[in-house]
Amino acid sequence: MSGSSLSTEQTPQIDKDVLRACYADARARYPEEACGLLSGPRDTLRVDTVRICENQQNRLHARDPMAHPRDARTAYSLGFRDLQFLDESLADSSPQRVRVIYHSHCNVGAYFSQEDERAAVFEGQRIYPVDYLVIDCQREGVRGAKLFRFIAGTFAEIAAYPGE
Ligand SMILES: [Zn+2]
Repeated sequence: MSGSSLSTEQTPQIDKDVLRACYADARARYPEEACGLLSGPRDTLRVDTVRICENQQNRLHARDPMAHPRDARTAYSLGFRDLQFLDESLADSSPQRVRVIYHSHCNVGAYFSQEDERAAVFEGQRIYPVDYLVIDCQREGVRGAKLFRFIAGTFAEIAAYPGE
């Protein structure tokens, strides 16, 4: 079985510690959205590494509020270096591959929003061959998370994780 069939057909196995780190990041940045990249050894389904990313959305909003009406409370945006890291991980020669982009939602639940779709799809095609983890963060803590995958032109839930 090739690496590409692994990535397109099977669900990544996110380590408990990785999920815990994502939840901690979501809580720390509440009431703003946290975001980051999850990766693991190429040609496995394992996701064992977290890269916490700065949410660039406040910067974009401050620079051009007309073009970016949302700030970091209701949107996320990855910076250049993080996108570069993501791009480089997708090369065949990279030992670690990014499998998941995560971000948190504050008080609205773990669903894949139209805003999320705009950030992930261009002209009907997904921009990056990764899945998307959306974390449901509330004032009292994380209620859980859901993993979404682009299937047949739309984002479908492929896994759900309990909160803590
Ligand atoms: Zn979102």
